[in-house]
Amino acid sequence: MELLSAELVARCDVGGGLVLVEIEPAASMVSSYVHPGQVVKLVAEGHTSYFALAGRPGATRWKLLVRDAGGISRALVTAPLGARFTMSAASYAGMPYAQVDQGPFAIAVVGSALGAVRGLLHAVAEDGKAGRTTLYFGIRTHEALPLEQELAAFAAGGMRVVLCLSDVSTADPRPPFEARVGLVQGAITADHVGGLLPPGTRLYVAGPSAMMAELRALGPELSLEVLTNG
Ligand SMILES: Cc1cc2nc3c(=O)[nH]c(=O)nc-3n(C[C@H](O)[C@H](O)[C@H](O)COP(=O)(O)OP(=O)(O)OC[C@H]3O[C@@H](n4cnc5c(N)ncnc54)[C@H](O)[C@@H]3O)c2cc1C
Repeated sequence: MELLSAELVARCDVGGGLVLVEIEPAASMVSSYVHPGQVVKLVAEGHTSYFALAGRPGATRWKLLVRDAGGISRALVTAPLGARFTMSAASYAGMPYAQVDQGPFAIAVVGSALGAVRGLLHAVAEDGKAGRTTLYFGIRTHEALPLEQELAAFAAGGMRVVLCLSDVSTADPRPPFEARVGLVQGAITADHVGGLLPPGTRLYVAGPSAMMAELRALGPELSLEVLTNG
């Protein structure tokens, strides 16, 4: 995989311990970002890390939603603007937007993996399709919610945003969001039982491999078509 120099051009704290980073890829790489959810590889000082592209395809500056977990993620959230990183073109299949129109769909993500669907959420909202979109978003507590205003704007546009709080014993209401105690899997199962997820719903998932494996296993049981960016 070819690696080229990319420049860190902007950065913004978006709450919940996450930072939205903007990086300018080499001009020859811009066209590789075709579908939301595609991933880039960054290499520096012996570290290799993968990050989902968190903006809409077609932009000349790419966005990454980053949690400081050491290594390259720390460099991305601390290096001075203008710093250069070695980066691949966008890889992975991503989550093709066209599939949104092929029937009922929902999205399940946790933590920083929100970045993998952020471009899709913006596309859906800007195209007036928020009202038929449900986002299950797994975070530890309400205080861990990133991009609160952005998600509230999606909810105001009709999107069901269900916060799944794993580290609390009661889910205090936080309008305009719904709040549930537990993992995204639990909220999805409850909504299936409650008739809120019709059979055949396409469920886009992004997160740690254990979470994705558990949702893949749950899919057939709940008649959901589970899709990933891989
Ligand atoms: C291809 C690839 C791309 C990546 N892209 C990025 C990126 O763009 N930015 C970035 O910062 N990191 C990225 N990572 C790292 C990785 O995705 C995150 O560490 C992971 O999503 C956890 O996010 P977090 O640390 O924010 O979650 P945490 O804050 O640690 O957890 C968030 C929530 O997930 C819940 N959770 C944990 N395990 C499960 C489970 N099995 N089922 C359901 N819920 C669970 C927790 O209970 C919690 O509520 C990437 C990794 C890979 C392999």
